[in-house]
Amino acid sequence: MFSGFMEKLVAGRWIAGPNVDDVIERGRRFNKLGIGSIMNYLGEALTDQKDINDAMDNYREILRKVKKGDPLTQISVKPTQIGLSVSLDMAEKNFSEIVRLAGEKEIFVWVDMEESNLVDQTIELYQSQMPNRSIGLCVQAYLRRTPQDVKNLTEKGGTVRLVKGAYTEPENVAFKSKEDIDRNYVEIMTYLFDNAERFMIASHDDKIIEKAREINKEKKKDVWYAMLNGIRNQYLIQLQKDGEKAFSYIPFGKKWIQYSVRRMQEAGHMSLLMKSIIHGQKI
Ligand SMILES: Cc1cc2nc3c(=O)[nH]c(=O)nc-3n(C[C@H](O)[C@H](O)[C@H](O)COP(=O)(O)OP(=O)(O)OC[C@H]3O[C@@H](n4cnc5c(N)ncnc54)[C@H](O)[C@@H]3O)c2cc1C
Repeated sequence: MFSGFMEKLVAGRWIAGPNVDDVIERGRRFNKLGIGSIMNYLGEALTDQKDINDAMDNYREILRKVKKGDPLTQISVKPTQIGLSVSLDMAEKNFSEIVRLAGEKEIFVWVDMEESNLVDQTIELYQSQMPNRSIGLCVQAYLRRTPQDVKNLTEKGGTVRLVKGAYTEPENVAFKSKEDIDRNYVEIMTYLFDNAERFMIASHDDKIIEKAREINKEKKKDVWYAMLNGIRNQYLIQLQKDGEKAFSYIPFGKKWIQYSVRRMQEAGHMSLLMKSIIHGQKI
């Protein structure tokens, strides 16, 4: 658990706590409601071997402690916390270990997507473990390239988690207006409904989520819905009650500032924090 006042107020909304046991405990609380957990250790752009080992140790510990074959437990790994900022080779070696350990526990592994200059290497990293069916890759609808990436990945049998995108990107690579990003999101989502069997809609946007649910009444695909812990927990609970497969993405670790700042920037400074205090409903 966090101890400082600011940590409790800000990070406590979205982050399980500093340790593996905190995220496992928070995951269990969601699991009791029938909601899956996606555990993510905080930290990115790591170049110090000690920090990379620490990130790896945290994933090793999760995979040692979680129950075998639990469909409500997944993990999500940032490429630059397992060595991509040092070399693709290092990231591939570490990712193959995580995928092997997760495979022994039958746990699904996601690869997070970071800045646009890392997309090619991140796809390569993901593909280094294909055709494993228990791994998936996050793709960002704000990037102009993503429809083509999703087509390539889907044709190879990949599994994607579709998000809008959380980093500040230049206009030549990314759409900037909400309207354009949402349009691209819906186009990619429509492609997935037509061409993929299983994928994850990761968003808090009720318009998009309800549109997906409407399309799926006819398509009957295996759709997972995911939200970040503490943003719209009540809506997530409602989705689960309505019979959808719902997941909460739960970060943990000591490096909570960068993550919390990104969340606050998303919906206009303090408004996301205020909204999430009202709608988040701590689990
Ligand atoms: C499971 C998951 C994994 C992610 N992984 C990545 C990743 O690997 N890489 C990456 O770049 N990004 C990732 N993201 C973040 C993502 O890119 C977006 O930054 C973030 O989800 C905000 O976009 P949105 O789809 O929720 O839509 P927004 O456009 O931010 O919000 C849309 C609408 O949702 C509603 N809304 C939002 N929050 C609230 C609230 N608290 N209460 C009430 N209504 C609300 C509002 O109506 C708002 O207009 C992930 C997000 C999720 C959910």
